[in-house]
Amino acid sequence: MTAPAGGADGAADLPGYAPIPRSALGPALNEQGYYVGRVERNLYWVTDGVYQSAFLATGDGVVLFDAPPTIGGNLRRAVDEIAAASGVSNRVTHLVYSHHHSDHAGAASLFGGDVTRIGHEETRRLLLRDNDPARPVPEITFADTYTLQVGGERVELAWHGPNHSPDNIYIHFPGHDTLMFIDVVNAGWVPIYNLNLSEDVPGYLAAPATALSYPWTHFICGHLGRLATRDDVAVHQAYIADIEASAKEALASVNPVPYYMAAGENAWAGVKAHLDTVTDRAAAPIIAKYTGVLAAADIEIFTRTTTFAIMQSLRLDTGPSGPVHP
Ligand SMILES: [Zn+2]
Repeated sequence: MTAPAGGADGAADLPGYAPIPRSALGPALNEQGYYVGRVERNLYWVTDGVYQSAFLATGDGVVLFDAPPTIGGNLRRAVDEIAAASGVSNRVTHLVYSHHHSDHAGAASLFGGDVTRIGHEETRRLLLRDNDPARPVPEITFADTYTLQVGGERVELAWHGPNHSPDNIYIHFPGHDTLMFIDVVNAGWVPIYNLNLSEDVPGYLAAPATALSYPWTHFICGHLGRLATRDDVAVHQAYIADIEASAKEALASVNPVPYYMAAGENAWAGVKAHLDTVTDRAAAPIIAKYTGVLAAADIEIFTRTTTFAIMQSLRLDTGPSGPVHP
């Protein structure tokens, strides 16, 4: 038996995936493991290569947007670095939650004291439910829209319905030509499992068009190493539209009856065989088409589980789930 290539735990003993397109990668990280860059004027973004956060450095203090724990203390370093270079205060006065998930908010408690936290009312409800000291609940909440004005800058927060999570909001910077919208489009990469672990499939499918309905040039998507463009959103939409079309075709063309006949009294074995066949048939051409276009398209389980989720939504949300028994 050969030793795993990645060391004792074998964690890096990975299959040989397709090379990551250079266009999917971002700028190099510094020694501490982060990159901070200007989006426009005094709006900055921070990445550790996997997660993204952003902040406005105003004359009246810093407004932070999300606090992913993987970036963690490097958010403080990034803010300090930019504040010193631009001659403004490094005091974080506001923190905006994009949504309640711990992987984007779990470093919120690092910015304690007199920070004003802002989020959707559902974010507050979910954070009260989750009762996590790392994610203090927002004091300021809103139902539909909220305008935040700090240091002469304006940020428009809006909730347009559930998508990735019930509380995921659109953060528009009209004075910076930028939209921040997390966990739906991954710039240059496929979504991970189940449409980026999304709860509301129709909401997730509709969200990119809502994002494009805003005027912006720069898009902070929350993941990976670079900012997104309108083209990135369009490629994501094409990938999803191709999956929808492929899932419809597969649902219509795979006859379920033989699978249930073969399964006999084990009805669930019939369900598995039928739906796995539909999923395989729908996902295969998508994986082939997008390998080399979207990074990690050849990690088949991502496209397969996303296809499965869309196929189930086509059955259960769009309908019909099948013929009505006479
Ligand atoms: Zn999330």
